[in-house]
Amino acid sequence: GAAFEKAKLHEHSNVLVGELRLINELAHRLHRSLELTETIQFACKELLGIFRADYCSIMQVNAIKKEFIVLYSNLAQEIGRTSPLDQGYAGIMWSTKEPIILSDYNDASQVKSHLMMVTGSRSLLAAPLMVNGEVIGVVMITHREPNYFSYDNYKLLQVISSHLGLALSNASLHAEVNRMVITDNLTGLFARHYLNERISRRQKRDSIGSLILLDIDHFKKVNDTYGHQIGDSILQQVSKIIQTSIRDGDIAARWGGEEMAIYLPEVGYEVTVKVAERIRSRVEKETSPRVTISCGLAEWRRTDDRISVESLFYRADMALYKAKHMGRNSIRVG
Ligand code: GH3
Ligand code: MG
Ligand code: MG
Repeated sequence: GAAFEKAKLHEHSNVLVGELRLINELAHRLHRSLELTETIQFACKELLGIFRADYCSIMQVNAIKKEFIVLYSNLAQEIGRTSPLDQGYAGIMWSTKEPIILSDYNDASQVKSHLMMVTGSRSLLAAPLMVNGEVIGVVMITHREPNYFSYDNYKLLQVISSHLGLALSNASLHAEVNRMVITDNLTGLFARHYLNERISRRQKRDSIGSLILLDIDHFKKVNDTYGHQIGDSILQQVSKIIQTSIRDGDIAARWGGEEMAIYLPEVGYEVTVKVAERIRSRVEKETSPRVTISCGLAEWRRTDDRISVESLFYRADMALYKAKHMGRNSIRVG
């Protein structure tokens, strides 16, 4: 009897040591990476392995939109799906802040779970991801068989999820800082250095691209007449017009005080003139107090002698200078 007990204890401590090692390793990897997608993908993959589960989804709380968003799942169609904060098992964890172990979804008809239904799962192991007592996300692990997860699994996930919560929070903060660094505060457009980097990258792989350099006409007079605050509002209005006049892949940046630049990948003058004209005429019509803009355009092609961000800007700037001298509120091609 005693020998048997001892053997059992020994086995138990081996399991514990194994789990500790696993938690340690996982935590280390999680806290090392600051890249959000990478961190979450890695965690999902590890959790699937550790619990020998069928599906894993990690969701994040968007407090502003009051919804969950699936950051990553091994069921690809789930990624990016959103759901209200009070829905499904995620919703329960949002309000109770407690993990969940469910032995058979078919017996638990009171909660409707999208994940359980779409994956045909019956067992669920789930935990809230908490930072400073707040639920910032949830992790859900499922299996098609009923009674699949053990109480030890449940406890292990609790430990892992506390590390995962911190890792998620760190990576989100990091992404937010990155976003702030590349965005201009006043206008919400990209910052100059970011535009430069993107053009430079594009020039390495594309065969053509265009730039619009845009400057508000007599902007000094706007400031002098209406004050800086109205001046700032004009900058925001013009930026909004730019953002709603370009396509997704185009990059608009605040280039200087009242100068903006828009890079249009993989298009030449023909398209660029149309875009610039659309922006010019909208600014003339939609701004209040009314302002006008002048634009200088330049394109580059793979066949050019010199391909660089500087020469592209130089030519656009020359064209802009001409547009100003033509009497402003106009577009010139460099
Ligand atoms: P032009 O038609 O030749 O472009 O004339 P302009 O008056 O627009 O040109 P100039 O470059 O002489 O003046 C630009 C003005 O933009 C000067 C500066 O006070 C103003 N400015 C630059 N940044 C900001 C900003 O962030 N907010 C406000 N309100 N004004 C700014
Ligand atoms: Mg200027
Ligand atoms: Mg100006």
